[in-house]
Amino acid sequence: MSFQNPVFIPGPTNMPESLRRACDMPTLDHRSSLFKDILHPALNGVRRVVKSADASVFVFPSTGTGGWETAITNTLNPGDTVLAARNGMFSHKWIDMCQRHGLTVEIVETPWGEGIPADRFEEILTADTGHRIKAVLATHNETATGVRSDIPAVRRAMDAAKHPALLFVDGVSSIGSMPFEFDGWKVDVAVTGSQKGFMLPAGLGIAVFSKQAMRAAETAGLPRTYFDIRDMAAGYAANAYPYTPAVGLLNGLKEGAAMLLDEGLENVFARHTRIATGVRAAVHAWGLQLCAVRPELYSDTVSAIRTPEGFDAARIVSHASTRYGVAFGAGLGQVAGKVFRIGHLGMLTDVLALSGIATAEMVMADLGLDITLGSGVAAAQEVYRSTATPVALAAE
Ligand SMILES: *Cc1c(COP(=O)(O)O)cnc(C)c1O
Repeated sequence: MSFQNPVFIPGPTNMPESLRRACDMPTLDHRSSLFKDILHPALNGVRRVVKSADASVFVFPSTGTGGWETAITNTLNPGDTVLAARNGMFSHKWIDMCQRHGLTVEIVETPWGEGIPADRFEEILTADTGHRIKAVLATHNETATGVRSDIPAVRRAMDAAKHPALLFVDGVSSIGSMPFEFDGWKVDVAVTGSQKGFMLPAGLGIAVFSKQAMRAAETAGLPRTYFDIRDMAAGYAANAYPYTPAVGLLNGLKEGAAMLLDEGLENVFARHTRIATGVRAAVHAWGLQLCAVRPELYSDTVSAIRTPEGFDAARIVSHASTRYGVAFGAGLGQVAGKVFRIGHLGMLTDVLALSGIATAEMVMADLGLDITLGSGVAAAQEVYRSTATPVALAAE
C-alpha cells in the first residue's frame, strides 16, 4: 500500500507516470547511434517550449543553479558589472553566485513581494553611458514570494536606454508553465531545470543561448570547464556529449517537452492560470494575503501566503507533513516564518489542487487559525466549476 500524496511544493513537481517511465531506461551506450534520437529531440523540444526559432540549447547534468553558472561563466569577464534586482531568495542566490565569481553586481534592492522595477533599470542603464554593465539578470518568477516579473518591460527598459547589455532570464519556475518568449522578448540566456515545468526528477540544468550570447562565449574570460558550452556544442555536433550524459533524464526531457507541446503551450498556460485562480480564491476566502503585492504580479505557478502576525508559518509546513503526509513550501530568507507556499505547477489539475487546498484548511484549523473548513475549497470550486473545459481522457 502506498500512501503517496501529490506534493504542493514549487518544485520538484509531481511526475506524470509516462515521464517516470521515460526516465527509467536500461543502460545505453551514449556513443552509439541510439543517443542522437534522444539528444536532438530533447534539445529541439526545449527550443520550442521557450519559443525560439534558432537559439542554442545546452543541457547539463546539473540543476537550475548550474544553469545560472552556465549563463555567467560563458559570457562574462572577471570584474564585469551586471545589473540585478533583489526581490526574493532566488534572485538573491544568483546575485551571490555572481559576486563569488568576482563580478560586480549593481543591486536594486526591491521589497520582497514586488517585481523587478523596470523603470529603475531604465534609469541605471541610461546613466551607464560607458556601458560598464554587461548583463541584466532577471528572475522571471520569484519562487520565494510568488511574484512574476514583467520581462518584456525589462527588455523595453534596455532598449529605451539603447544599452547593449545581454539579458539573462531565470525561468526555472516559469518555463513550461507560464508564457515565455525567448525570441519575442529578445532574451540572451534563459535558464531552467528539469524538475519544475518539465515535470521530471531534478538532475538537468538547461541554458538557452541567443546568437549574441554565443558570440560572447567565444571570448568570455571567466573560468569555465564543466559548464563550457563550447565543449558541449562540439559534443552535440558529433551527436555526443563531452562527458557521460544523464541519458534517462534526457529521454524524460524529450518526452516532457513533447507532452507540453502536445497539450499546446497556450493550453498549458491557461490551465496554470485557472488552477492558480482557484488557489487565490481560496486564499482570499481564508482572509489571508498573498506575499505578491499586486494582482499583476501574481504567479501562476506558486502562491506565497502570508499568515497572521505572530504566527510561525513554518508550523503549517511541518504539521502538514507529519499529520497528513502532504508537502507545502516553507518561507525562505526574509519571509521565513511569515509565509507558506502552495506550488501549483506541472502536472496539477483542478481536482488535485482542491485536495491541497482542503489539506491546507485542515492544517490551519488544527493549528488554531481562524479558518472555516470548506471556505477555501468552496471558493476554488466556484472558480473551477465556472471555468471547467471538457477533458479529453485520451490515452497518450
Ligand atoms: C528552483 C529554482 C532555482 C534553483 O534551481 P535548482 O534546480 O534547485 O538548482 C532557481 N531559480 C528559481 C526561480 C527557482 O524556482
